[in-house]
Amino acid sequence: MRLLLVLRDQLDRSAALFDDVDPDTDVVVMTENDRDRGRFREHKQRLALGFAAMRHFRDELREQGLTVAYETASPPETDRDSYHAAEASPVADALREKIREHGADEVVLTEPGRIGLLKEIEAVCDEEGVEFTVYADRHFLCTHEDFESWADGRKELTLEYFYREQRREYDILLTDEGDPVGGEWNFDSDNRESFGADGPGMIPDGPRFDRDDVTGKVLETVRRDFSSAPGDLDTFRWPVTPEQAKTALDDFIKNRLPMFGTYQDAMWTGRAFLYHSRLSAALNLKLLSPLTAVRAAEEAYHDGHAPIHAVEGFIRQILGWREFVRGVYWLYAPEYGHKNALDAAMDLPDLYWSGETQMRCLSECVGQVKEHAYTHHIPRLMVIGLFGMMAGIDPAQMNDWHEAYYVDAWEWVSQPNMIGMALYADGGIVGTKPYAASGKYISRQSNYCSHCRFDPAASTGDDACPFTTFYWDFLNRHQETFSGNRRMNFQLANVRRKSDDELEAIAEQAEHYRERLDEGEL
Ligand code: SF4
Repeated sequence: MRLLLVLRDQLDRSAALFDDVDPDTDVVVMTENDRDRGRFREHKQRLALGFAAMRHFRDELREQGLTVAYETASPPETDRDSYHAAEASPVADALREKIREHGADEVVLTEPGRIGLLKEIEAVCDEEGVEFTVYADRHFLCTHEDFESWADGRKELTLEYFYREQRREYDILLTDEGDPVGGEWNFDSDNRESFGADGPGMIPDGPRFDRDDVTGKVLETVRRDFSSAPGDLDTFRWPVTPEQAKTALDDFIKNRLPMFGTYQDAMWTGRAFLYHSRLSAALNLKLLSPLTAVRAAEEAYHDGHAPIHAVEGFIRQILGWREFVRGVYWLYAPEYGHKNALDAAMDLPDLYWSGETQMRCLSECVGQVKEHAYTHHIPRLMVIGLFGMMAGIDPAQMNDWHEAYYVDAWEWVSQPNMIGMALYADGGIVGTKPYAASGKYISRQSNYCSHCRFDPAASTGDDACPFTTFYWDFLNRHQETFSGNRRMNFQLANVRRKSDDELEAIAEQAEHYRERLDEGEL
């Protein structure tokens, strides 16, 4: 008999492993104990979303006549500080037990989004002497083979070229002649507005889903058994079924897509969601097909409901960036997770969990993650990640934190985004330059600085903005590293214009701020 192993982020009824499922003999195995895999415990909303979505999926499979062996989550140990990930994944343990219990002779699964887990499962099957079949994950829009052949022989992996191929492959936003609709492939330059002094005003907030018995019980369990996990649970509102995910998509297309492009890089105090879709969590659990989301946005353009720059920006994130980072992950895994091109060694400061800091931007953005297990990509990349890169925080710890604290972060998507894009720890695989910026950038894109005790223009002195101090210190420390990168010429020329005395004062200020960070006083 066969065991069909379904992981927490593989809730896809159209996955290849179900193609020839035999309800009379096959058993689907699911375990909630695939959690807390890294150095840190997961956010309560991450756990609740995963468990609720899994239980709904389990019930759907059972209604369709399949047998599901389902393991609910065991409560964690209570002392967070003594927590360390087990050597072997609980998934491997659960699988071994089920192989023996059912006398299985074959294990079938969809390729996991974590290479280490794939190896563990393979090892268990070898040890137990059972056949092992792994199917490609057909949820994604670019196969490993296609990505490898696209990447083969290229000096640099440039998203833009990959994205154009994807547009052509799926015939998205193309004219009959095969040219890009609107005359350009990319409208990013139209997508950088900030809200100005008046702020964002009213924005339709997105659907809130009724909590049925299944979701209600999960929330109760997480509240009771996972009280030591980080983050808040009260604001939980994630879609937990494919139907809810479709409702969330429809709501976004109708109410927020038209303005999404213009303000996609903007931030505002107390407003975590703004015009963003928040579909990444449902996409990454496979509750929603990427092509459904892409086609819905394209239709909104053709119907005259949303402008090209909004639609193109949204489609690029899903058809381009999401597939691109997955390709990069599998091209470089497992080494990618250990990359540390800038030799960053600082331990993750506590403020990444608590949000308690005098820096208004970080307290606001980390506060959003605490409250919602989510921020949109700019706080993630250009506040939280940016600070980590410039201060010199260990990339592996930053990535573990991201995977634990964000509702949509899984290894395949987290590592290229955090280690690569945000921290430049991959030395330039996903980005051609580090996205270094001073407090002035944050001041332009948000209203955070107007409520902050620091001055975004100051790099030294009592009111020096730590972002601005670390910005100059970062460029100065890495002058040699970046000297061969033409895209860094402008920023490096500005550093070289500073006097030795000025650079020395900045280095001292940065050192002072590192000590304060270490003491939890910044
Ligand atoms: Fe952040 Fe600096 Fe602005 Fe304060 S002044 S909110 S620390 S960027």
